[in-house]
Amino acid sequence: MRLIDSHCHFDFAAFDKDRASVWRQCREAGVERIIIPGVSPPRWQALLDLVRSEPAWHAALGVHPWWVAESKCGAAQLQRDLAASLEANACVAIGECGLDGAIATPLEKQEEVFRAQLALAESLQLPLIVHARRCHNEMLHLLQAYRPSRGGVIHAFSGSVEIAREYWKLGFSLGAGGTITYDRAAKTRRAFAALPLEAIVLETDAPDMPLQGHQGQRNSPACLPRIARTLAELRGVSVETVADQTRRNTEALFSL
Ligand SMILES: [Zn+2]
Repeated sequence: MRLIDSHCHFDFAAFDKDRASVWRQCREAGVERIIIPGVSPPRWQALLDLVRSEPAWHAALGVHPWWVAESKCGAAQLQRDLAASLEANACVAIGECGLDGAIATPLEKQEEVFRAQLALAESLQLPLIVHARRCHNEMLHLLQAYRPSRGGVIHAFSGSVEIAREYWKLGFSLGAGGTITYDRAAKTRRAFAALPLEAIVLETDAPDMPLQGHQGQRNSPACLPRIARTLAELRGVSVETVADQTRRNTEALFSL
């Protein structure tokens, strides 16, 4: 089995003590590449340095909605800084960026910063790694307005198959993560069973989003094969089929 983790925060301090041994476990489990999205400008340089140490790790740069409140400068300055960093470094996408309806930062403020990244995705012709939590209506409106031509991924998608199909029509893949391992996530499991396999990429979002049975523990990119197996069971196909197609989807999306 050969897999790509399309979304893992492998640069986070949670992996500082044992990153090399986690990566060894990944390789043994068949996880051959990792996309690492950036979340806030002060952390971009460390992420860029990290991916330079291993050719199988790929950086994206962006401003995550959770880090919008801490940024002192406005959306225009963030856009200039992001453009400069993206032009100077090999990055596979813009992100993680988006909207989160479950945090204190007002949506208008989050939207300003997200719009700056949508505009940049178009001018630099990069795909987007999108965080969309409790805001699918607002997100769909924005994507319909901007129609990013390189598309992207709605990461850690949780929602109905109808909403998933709206994203797919706009050129966005859906990221299947730990959520599908939970029996109680019936709606999301149904969505991932029904979507075309061409619309799905796999991800762990590690160190967050532990799988069922591991609540409260650090999640790891080495857990990706279990997500692939769960998706294969939900769809009634072999895990090899899931691994091959989702790997190809991820390679195409990020031009790997
Ligand atoms: Zn993330």
